[in-house]
Amino acid sequence: MLKGRNAVITGSTSGIGLGIARALAREGASVMLNGFGDAAEIEKLRAGMASEFGVKVLHSPADMTRPAEIRAMIARAAKELGSVDILVNNAGIQFVSPVAEFPEDKWDQIIAVNMSSNFHTVKAALPLMRANGWGRIINISSAHGLVASPFKSAYVAAKHGVNGMTKTIALEVARENITCNAICPGYVRTPLVDKQVDDQARVHGIPPERVITEVILKPQPTQRFVEIDEVAGIAVFLCSPAGMSINGAALSMDGGWTAT
Ligand code: NAD
Repeated sequence: MLKGRNAVITGSTSGIGLGIARALAREGASVMLNGFGDAAEIEKLRAGMASEFGVKVLHSPADMTRPAEIRAMIARAAKELGSVDILVNNAGIQFVSPVAEFPEDKWDQIIAVNMSSNFHTVKAALPLMRANGWGRIINISSAHGLVASPFKSAYVAAKHGVNGMTKTIALEVARENITCNAICPGYVRTPLVDKQVDDQARVHGIPPERVITEVILKPQPTQRFVEIDEVAGIAVFLCSPAGMSINGAALSMDGGWTAT
């Protein structure tokens, strides 16, 4: 379905981003991966995807806190893939702390990676989509783009910002065969969640083994994690012809969390 399309997925060496990149490649899109990790592991991943799906797969190590690197990543995708038709803004980090103790450098880093990078990627990629007369911008937001939890001030601020930016961009591109949407998952079991277990235990004053049931899955009425493949499935749907009229939406997939 996506043969001939080219996609850039930020933060796709792990977790949800990797799942989306694999799903787009399975549909025939060439992809540019992005994110950190061991160079040899990333090369194995890149080459493995290229041979498994028969598409071109590149990796950019661009740091999403650095606008010049973001611009260079999009320019490289345009040059080496031929265009950027699908942009998935997925890179994200988390830090859990009461607001009065929240480290300033962590605040700045979360706002840069989780929110401002979306502005820089869209600014660089939109002219390429306009030139082709087709584009899909998918921002991986969160249930925390719609509701808050304590101790996540930077993350919640960034994700609410992403949802606002999504709506603005959607209005600006509405007549150009381009859509811009946010996907708002509840908790998905990835390294990002695993890494916050100890911090959550500390701020909530409970042992780490109680964090999954008493903190993380507590707001999710289904009491189960969202699966990476479920998020990837929505991303593919948004790129399909049936996704054409979905524009400016914040698509909840949180097992009912934001219905409460
Ligand atoms: P993850 O930790 O598994 O992956 C994060 C990816 O981002 C990695 O590839 C990492 O290398 C990359 N990354 C981090 N900092 C970067 C930077 N400065 N520049 C470039 N790449 C960088 O996390 P995940 O859980 O897959 O999260 C992906 C997205 O999904 C995030 O935006 C997150 O907020 C969102 N999300 C996650 C959950 C969840 O429960 N896991 C729920 C809702 C939303």
